Amino acid sequence: MLRDFDRVTAERDALQQRLNAADQRIDELERDKHRLDALESNCWDVRFDSSPNGDAGDSSIKIEVVGHWMDQPLERVIGENYSENLRAAIDQAMAAPAYPPARPEYPEPEPDADADWHMNPCKQGHRDVGASGGVAACNQCDEKIEAATTQEAFERWNATHPVVQPIPDQLRDATNMIDALQPERIKGMIETVGGEHAVMIDPENGHYGWTFKKHPDGQWVSGRKATEREMIAARSHAQITNQL
Ligand SMILES: [Zn+2]
Repeated sequence: MLRDFDRVTAERDALQQRLNAADQRIDELERDKHRLDALESNCWDVRFDSSPNGDAGDSSIKIEVVGHWMDQPLERVIGENYSENLRAAIDQAMAAPAYPPARPEYPEPEPDADADWHMNPCKQGHRDVGASGGVAACNQCDEKIEAATTQEAFERWNATHPVVQPIPDQLRDATNMIDALQPERIKGMIETVGGEHAVMIDPENGHYGWTFKKHPDGQWVSGRKATEREMIAARSHAQITNQL
C-alpha cells in the first residue's frame, strides 16, 4: 500500500515537471508568435548589416527593425540589436512609442556634475571632491560647503580652497622671465590655463562678460558672450590666482 502511494506520488511529480516544461515551451512559442504577428501587421523591415571587426578578423552583425511612416523621417529604426539577438530587436520595436524618433531613445547617462567644474582639493589635500545638490564636499574627510545652489557651493569651495603648489626654483625663474616679457595685463581679463582664451570679468570694462581668443600677434580678440558657468569659473580662477 505504501509502495503504491510512493509510486503514484513519483508519477504525479514527474507529470507536473513535464507540464511545467510544456508550459514554459508554450510561453516561449507564444512570445515568438507575437513577434511574428507584430512584424506582419506593422509591415516592419528587418535589416541585417555586418561590419568588419577591425583586428579581430571577423565581422559584427547589426540588426535593425525599421518602421515606415507617412511623414519625415519616412523610415525609422524602432528596434536594434548589436549582439545578433533578433528577438531583442523586435521586442524593442514592439515597445516603441506610436511616433518614435528616427532611432530608439535610450536614457541619457547621468551628466557628471563636476565634469567641467575643476574643484580644488580639500584643506587636507584630498582630491576626491565633488559638488552636487547644493553641496561641495570632500568624499574622504566630510569637509563640505553648503549653499543655495550647486554652482554657488562650487564657487565658494574653490574661492576658499586655493591651490598651493611649491614651484621649483628653475620653473619660478622661467615664469618670472616670461612675465617680464609679457605685455601689461588687462585688468579683469582672466586667462585660461593655456593662455589662449580669456574671459573679461571686470564690470567696468566695456567687454564685460565676453570671451576672448589670443591672436598670434598677442592681441586679445573678442569672441562671444561667456556662459554663466564660464563666468563663475573665471571668477574663481581669478580669485585663486590673485588676478583680481
Ligand atoms: Zn578631505
